[in-house]
Amino acid sequence: MIKVAFDHSYAHPLPENHRFPMEKYDLLPKQLLLEGTLDENHFFVPQILDFKDALEVHDSHYLSKLCNLELTAREERISGFPHSKALVEREFKIMEGTRMCAQFAKEHNGVAFNIAGGTHHAFTNRGEGFCLLNDQAIAAKWLLNQKYANQILIIDLDVHQGNGTAEIFKNESRVFTFSMHGEHNYPLHKEVSDLDIPLFDGMNDEVYLHLLTSTLNLILEKITPDFIFYQCGVDILSTDKLGRLNLTLEGCKKRDEIVFQIVKHLDVPVVCTMGGGYSPDIKTIIEAHANTFRVANKYFE
Ligand SMILES: [Zn+2]
Repeated sequence: MIKVAFDHSYAHPLPENHRFPMEKYDLLPKQLLLEGTLDENHFFVPQILDFKDALEVHDSHYLSKLCNLELTAREERISGFPHSKALVEREFKIMEGTRMCAQFAKEHNGVAFNIAGGTHHAFTNRGEGFCLLNDQAIAAKWLLNQKYANQILIIDLDVHQGNGTAEIFKNESRVFTFSMHGEHNYPLHKEVSDLDIPLFDGMNDEVYLHLLTSTLNLILEKITPDFIFYQCGVDILSTDKLGRLNLTLEGCKKRDEIVFQIVKHLDVPVVCTMGGGYSPDIKTIIEAHANTFRVANKYFE
């Protein structure tokens, strides 16, 4: 059983000419419906996250500045977005989307997707890189507080390091943060995750997939997760403007296969968040993201 969080506001918080690609948030659900991978019953519309759930992860001073649009011009610029009430509201909806996905996945021992999120560059007290609040961190903390999970594994395979997530959970042994990311890519200064695997520029399918399999096996020798978050950004593709790696669409799909095979083997709930994807042709981005849903369908229908 699969559930998918989506709201039309995911795609429309920014000025038309903003450089961040927003159209994928609308096109991906359309594609998944059109091809029959999902039907309307799979989708739900998230509400706004309860402020106290955000406070479990983020600094209260930062949150109040963010909500009152009082961050400095510099803080706003580093976040990557021009701030507005609509943008902040969108962020709280995305947070609730991932939290509700976690609740659903737990209750049904299944898989849930947020068609947004994976805002892994948001720190306890600041945002950067198109991330204002950290959805996986908020949802993970919520699960721990509910005693719905005791050992969470975050598999972050977006090409950029999950620096915010690493910082948030640096002293939390119940959340194992694993990030596989471009060594020479943003962020320049990397945080320390529980396990970081830096990737050299131009890495191909074969090397990447081998490294992923062996690393996941190593992690599972150390911990036995009872809940998994999967940050499935598609900026690892060779076509990606920011990625610097050399993976094919097929390789990216095999990556998803490897993760879902492990989830199935462990028989644990999983929440997938969208992450990045900056290939110049929007069709490539949609195809790569759609593949993650197609693979999940195979294992969790
Ligand atoms: Zn990314």
